[in-house]
Amino acid sequence: MKHLEFVDHDIAKIIERETLRQKDHLELIASENFVSLAVLEADGSILTNKYAEGYPGKRYYGGCEFVDEVETLAKERLQALFDVKYCNVQPHSGSTANMGAYRAILEKGDKVLGMALDQGGHLTHGHPLNFSGVDYQFVPYFVSKETETIDYEELEKLALAEKPKLIVAGASAYPRILDFERFRKIADQVGALLMVDMAHIAGLVVAKLHPNPCDYADIVTSTTHKTLRGPRGGVIMTNNEDIAKKVDKVIFPGIQGGPLMHIIAAKAVAFKEALQPQFLEYQKQVVKNAAAFADEFVKLGYHVVSGGTDNHLLLLDVLSKTGLTGKKAENLLDEVHITCNKNTIPYDTQKPFIASGIRLGTPAMTTRGFKEADFRLVARLIDNALMNVGDDDVMADVKNKVRLLTDAHPLPYQL
Ligand SMILES: *Cc1c(COP(=O)(O)O)cnc(C)c1O
Repeated sequence: MKHLEFVDHDIAKIIERETLRQKDHLELIASENFVSLAVLEADGSILTNKYAEGYPGKRYYGGCEFVDEVETLAKERLQALFDVKYCNVQPHSGSTANMGAYRAILEKGDKVLGMALDQGGHLTHGHPLNFSGVDYQFVPYFVSKETETIDYEELEKLALAEKPKLIVAGASAYPRILDFERFRKIADQVGALLMVDMAHIAGLVVAKLHPNPCDYADIVTSTTHKTLRGPRGGVIMTNNEDIAKKVDKVIFPGIQGGPLMHIIAAKAVAFKEALQPQFLEYQKQVVKNAAAFADEFVKLGYHVVSGGTDNHLLLLDVLSKTGLTGKKAENLLDEVHITCNKNTIPYDTQKPFIASGIRLGTPAMTTRGFKEADFRLVARLIDNALMNVGDDDVMADVKNKVRLLTDAHPLPYQL
């Protein structure tokens, strides 16, 4: 930060404080991760200077010979990762990728089935204030009250009744494997297209711990910064040449201008990392850690939504055991340097901004080397903090133990 400190002391100091926060807090937000120094270097590189509207070999600016190589490598690696024929690596975010995907296959006003937002779906799956809810007619599907997992029979009935143009599978807070084959069958039954938004689970798919949606869906979107552990961004994939051509037109010139070439380079680096055997080991550990984490909470007497997890996250009903709302729990845990987010649980009695639960994920701390025993300890620390509100000694003790854990698993980031 040598130059930044000199030019802009304020921002340099804030980044320094944020670096320390990232180092000494337990990061349990399920959608976050820590990128490698290599990804960070590409992300902060001089490629940010380059305008490259268009695609490799077909740009609207001169001097694109090197960024063409970058984007081509990013595409080839992504295609290899997911064994898919076509892709677009330019979306600036997961939301933009979803906008691109919808625009490539839908007309305004088309009917779409998406997972209910308060049961795990994402804003871009039809929230009334989001472009998706404004432009398309979203109809929600739900999880079963008993199992708290997607009720495929109800989904099938809903699809038959509504005859949607598209079914969207994918979620931000769903702890179980999504049955893409079943989604495909239901879509085929009613002549609908199938889109999978694998933003959260892309890394697990790479490791073949979850089925590959590219084998089933007409179009697949993802973020690159969650379990995939790359820079902040989005991607779109398909095996359908027609859809691929539409996607390219929709992203540029339809939605975006110049691509973020430094981010695309960082994506390429992350994809290369994801092609290595260590990445598979990492993903296996992410899942094992989440299972141990959930199991410990069950032992402590908590209701874990759906009884456990098959992926990198769990939904913990904090209200039923501790009497605290999700919002209160999030704030309390923040005080002891444990970072997570409040989250509604299926059929929640609280408003979304209050919520009965918290969402906890293992990707970030697994990157820092946490194993099952560490997560079991974290579960007990969380329980200790939530069950002893107002007891300063307990809170101080939890905070100290968090510090020991983070110190034992340092981040390589420089101040
Ligand atoms: C995170 C997420 C997105 C959006 O990603 P952004 O990069 O934050 O726009 C889209 N869909 C799902 C399911 C997500 O979890």
